[in-house]
Amino acid sequence: MTSKEQEVTWDLTGLFPSIGDPSVEKAISEAKSFADAFERNYRGKIASVGSVGLLRCFRELEDFDVKAGDIELFASLSFSANMTLQETQALYDKVSKVEAQLGKQLAFFSLELGALVRDKPQVITDPVLANYRHMLERVQRRVPHQLSEVEEQITIEKDQFGVQAWEDLQSKWLNTRTFEITVLGEKKTLSYGEANGLLPHPDRATREAANRSIYGLLGKDGEIFASALRSICNDWVSVSKRRKYSSPMESSLISNDTEEAIVDNLLRQMEQNAGMYRRYLKLKAKLMNLPVLGNHDITAPLPGSSLLKFTFAEAQTLVTLAYSHFDAQYVTAVKEMFAKRRIDASPRFGKRNGAFCASWYRGKSAFVLDNFSGALTDVYTLAHELGHATHDYYVSRSQTIMNTAIPSIVAETASIFGELLLTDLMLGEAKSDEERKAVLCLVLDEAGMTAFQVTARVWFEQALYLSIEQGEFLDYPTICRHWTQARDRIFGDAVTWFPEMEAEWTMKPHYYMANYRFYNYPYVYAQMFVYSLYEQYLEEGKEFVPKLVKALSAGSSVSPVGIGKIVGLNVADPMFWSGGLKVFDRLIIDLEKVT
Ligand SMILES: [Zn+2]
Repeated sequence: MTSKEQEVTWDLTGLFPSIGDPSVEKAISEAKSFADAFERNYRGKIASVGSVGLLRCFRELEDFDVKAGDIELFASLSFSANMTLQETQALYDKVSKVEAQLGKQLAFFSLELGALVRDKPQVITDPVLANYRHMLERVQRRVPHQLSEVEEQITIEKDQFGVQAWEDLQSKWLNTRTFEITVLGEKKTLSYGEANGLLPHPDRATREAANRSIYGLLGKDGEIFASALRSICNDWVSVSKRRKYSSPMESSLISNDTEEAIVDNLLRQMEQNAGMYRRYLKLKAKLMNLPVLGNHDITAPLPGSSLLKFTFAEAQTLVTLAYSHFDAQYVTAVKEMFAKRRIDASPRFGKRNGAFCASWYRGKSAFVLDNFSGALTDVYTLAHELGHATHDYYVSRSQTIMNTAIPSIVAETASIFGELLLTDLMLGEAKSDEERKAVLCLVLDEAGMTAFQVTARVWFEQALYLSIEQGEFLDYPTICRHWTQARDRIFGDAVTWFPEMEAEWTMKPHYYMANYRFYNYPYVYAQMFVYSLYEQYLEEGKEFVPKLVKALSAGSSVSPVGIGKIVGLNVADPMFWSGGLKVFDRLIIDLEKVT
């Protein structure tokens, strides 16, 4: 952003007038009194309230969630925009504590609801509770894996200083080290965040220095990371047995509301089509005047592409145009996000990195935080986050708040779709082949990483559990071997790797997430699902629009398989995923034409 441009900040007054306003305190104390009353009225009684009583209970809880959502959102947004201000820190801290306290106080509800669904499964199909049917089906799927209330409490207490401590250790390591890197010929000592920021640097020597420095240092402490990951995986094997999961992946399948066979088909298709990604990587090597890509070139920008610069106003015009080309109504949410100042786009000291979209149910809208610096990827980020806002716009108009618990595999639908709409526009409006190449490479880089590289991470995780099952000891060299084998199944001969890159797995925080395993495949699913949707759109044209709107409006009231059916797609078909791969292939063909 240039200094001439005005700072783009969001207007949070629709939530609360200001941090110091008395209405903030009032909202917090109202939330507390609601929880007290709810506990008094329902604790120990869920089994006997009957379906009409249960409906009343759901509605009370939803009213509470909508109101409490406002104060939680206000606190977290104020904090994210200005993390170093004392007043935002204090409010965020206070609200987080109240939230945790209320969560504990109301935990009885989900346990009692689980027991009810187990003992009286007919409640699921009761017409009185029709709105909550799929939510109750999801509860039913979780119930057999729940432990007793005391066992659950002990697990939470022990995990806090047990398996979660490994997670802390990994992030502490990253945040306490410094890295010696030669940046454009100048030696610098940098934090992990700064060093990581150099990985997509336009200068190849700087990229090499950053990669070697980061992964070299990580590798030196490889046995420490191996201890952490080994403990986390073995802990999960014990947890899975206790909770009667049929596989280490089942818990993740349940939270994503999907089936193992669907994920297997997906991964198989990705493996069978890895050659398509390699074809792109070889083409990219040619565009970069290299005989073969090094690992530090995989997502590097094309030479000259950094010259493409956009002001925030230009980005606004492009994204709005991309969405409105799809449909004049569909763009409404995007326009509203700009008009009502729901976007905080300017980078500033103390602001959270990256970008996110937070839904605002009561406002039937959302807020987007972004760090817009004018690059092409920033325009894509905006298109992506405003896709989330569009999803929120439709869901909040059609569903009660309990039906907005959208699993990750579906939550990226409108966002990735928005990126494809932008791609269409950018390619149509590109003034030169150079610009077309920059757009195509950016899109293929992103999609290649999300769909193909992430597939390797799923195989890696599967290999770790198989290894444990076969009694193998997961020391550092063994884990590295699992990683490089999984990686090479995707990249083959299309990339050469620095030896330090065997340590690549050590820095991914999600491998260390306590009690949440198999975090990766939903990204592959989401990417390929949306590419298939896009293929459908290209075939059907305008007829597709109302179907997409209906799919987005369904929220979590139907399963991801049901969402596919709304748009006429059968995700359970083993060949389903080849549709999305066609879109990927066509983008490569477009690039081949201009190369
Ligand atoms: Zn997203």
